[in-house]
Amino acid sequence: MEAIESIDLFSPHRHERPTPLAVLRDIFGHKAFRGQQADVIDHVAEGGDAVVLFPTGAGKSMCYQIPAICRSGVGIVISPLIALMRDQVEALKQAGVAAAALNSSLTAEESADVRRKLRNGELDLLYVAPERVATPGFANMLSGIDIALFAIDEAHCVSQWGHDFRPEYRELIHLVELFPGVPRIALTATADPTTREDIIERLGLEQAQVFTTSFDRPNISYSIVERDKAREQLLAFLAAHKGSSGIVYCLSRAKVEDVAEWLSGKGIPALPYHAGLSAERRSANQDAFLKEENICMVATVAFGMGIDKPDVRYVAHMDLPASIEAYYQETGRAGRDGQPADAWMSYGMADVVQRRRMIDEGNAPDEVKRLEHGKLNALLGVCETASCRRQAILSHFGEAHPGGCGNCDTCRSPVESWDGTEAAIKALAAIYRTGMRFGAAHIIDVLLGKETEKVTRFGHQHQKVFGQGRELDARAWQSVVRQLTAMGLIVVDHANHGALTLSAAAHEVFKRERSVTLRKDRPKKSVEVRRALGKSVEVPEHARPLFDALRDVRTQLAKAQGVPPYVIFHDATLRAMALAQPKHPHDMLNLPGVGQGKLDRYGEDFLAVVRQVVP
Ligand code: ADP
Ligand code: ZN
Repeated sequence: MEAIESIDLFSPHRHERPTPLAVLRDIFGHKAFRGQQADVIDHVAEGGDAVVLFPTGAGKSMCYQIPAICRSGVGIVISPLIALMRDQVEALKQAGVAAAALNSSLTAEESADVRRKLRNGELDLLYVAPERVATPGFANMLSGIDIALFAIDEAHCVSQWGHDFRPEYRELIHLVELFPGVPRIALTATADPTTREDIIERLGLEQAQVFTTSFDRPNISYSIVERDKAREQLLAFLAAHKGSSGIVYCLSRAKVEDVAEWLSGKGIPALPYHAGLSAERRSANQDAFLKEENICMVATVAFGMGIDKPDVRYVAHMDLPASIEAYYQETGRAGRDGQPADAWMSYGMADVVQRRRMIDEGNAPDEVKRLEHGKLNALLGVCETASCRRQAILSHFGEAHPGGCGNCDTCRSPVESWDGTEAAIKALAAIYRTGMRFGAAHIIDVLLGKETEKVTRFGHQHQKVFGQGRELDARAWQSVVRQLTAMGLIVVDHANHGALTLSAAAHEVFKRERSVTLRKDRPKKSVEVRRALGKSVEVPEHARPLFDALRDVRTQLAKAQGVPPYVIFHDATLRAMALAQPKHPHDMLNLPGVGQGKLDRYGEDFLAVVRQVVP
């Protein structure tokens, strides 16, 4: 990788420090602060501690990067992953900020160079791994160094309630005693209240000011489709996302490999990623995902944390996640750049059974299992809702949303609900009368009055419920059984080959003390393909040729340096450039995402393209 020297925009030896707004404009090329960024930055720049709870894409990085630049000394950023550090440091260097990382991927020489810069006060930001903080060497290294702040990124890693617990994060509590008076800022996109409280306690940030905002991600469109040939459904979904980057999550490693191979066979540039692959293969695939612009990453949840790629256009789930928290976190990796993105999931009865089994067969204490079932139930509620998905997700995080978001499948094509009490009674009766020993397929045969071999073998054609369910077809009954299972009225007995049994609550339905509202599944053919984007950003037709040419030069510049294209300019910047057609350097500075550093470095390359395409 070609070394990029930082331009000394603000010499650390100068006395007056730049204002936050000047840094935002001159270095990062943004016009104004977003949301509460300015409040956080002022608070930390003045030496206060902060806990920042903003959703992905809200712009948390600025909240510590700008105070670190404005304050005297170096900002130390604790970051859980090397890939994440590399990305952030690269983006900062591109903008002309003196940033570096210390981690195990450096050679002794590189590491010595970083330490030298640190001692000489030449760095604005230094990224380090949490395990380093716990070593005596760390305090030694920083002794006598002017420290602007400590930023604890992905702070939910400190909590075992979170999804990415990292024991090393627990050591970060010692920063208070080791470096008294240095402001600390913890940042996370976790929306889970339990995890949030835990973070504050575990990091000793009870006195810190907490900044929080809505966790809605309005640019993400949610859809959950009833599973019916999942792979074909996936393929139809991906067809609308040709040429853009995305992630397809699967539960198991074997499924990851299968799906990736199958997609490749269908001409989709798909790569697998899971913890069972060799480190080289994982890193090669991840690298391709970051640097190419059309990779479909088929992965287990081992992939994603710390992937800062701004232009992930879709996240698809081939299996149900564990909870709403997990679903929100995984889908949240789409559309960091604020441009439209799709979260899509294929969901069916098998998911309910599989997830329940994973919990039951795990060796967690009963209390934890109850908690996990509760979390799963909440997610099933989102899957089975006939109203706005966004409202259901946000309400789980204690946030009121009026519903009718217009950007989820149930809002775009409303789902009918129906009084399923009679149907529920029939299904439950069929399960009960046949001895609670059979799976869904047989129960449905009984309801439909099919004289199969199994039916006659067990004499079920003589049961009263036999043939009592002919008003619905097999698919509708599958839906009823799935929804009753999701509601916990039907319980799957894993120890008995997945036989359907009844829960205590089922008796309330029998006694008509409880009515059951069900959602009507969509007709089979309506696999929703909303936008045939074809390209990753929507650009007006007349600006398309210039946009494509700008993308090409960006690709060349990125390849030459071995960096992802988005660290040079985001798509949003190229889009604005294609519309504004700047002919002079000062016109470029008006574009979002163009600061002085990038103008100096790339201005001429891009201006040349504009002049050539739009003479
Ligand atoms: P988070 O860490 O909260 O997920 P990032 O820090 O990665 O978000 O920022 C998301 C995107 O928003 C980045 O592309 C960043 O350049 C952009 N961004 C941040 N702050 C601003 C701002 N004030 N104006 C315009 N864009 C911004
Ligand atoms: Zn909605």
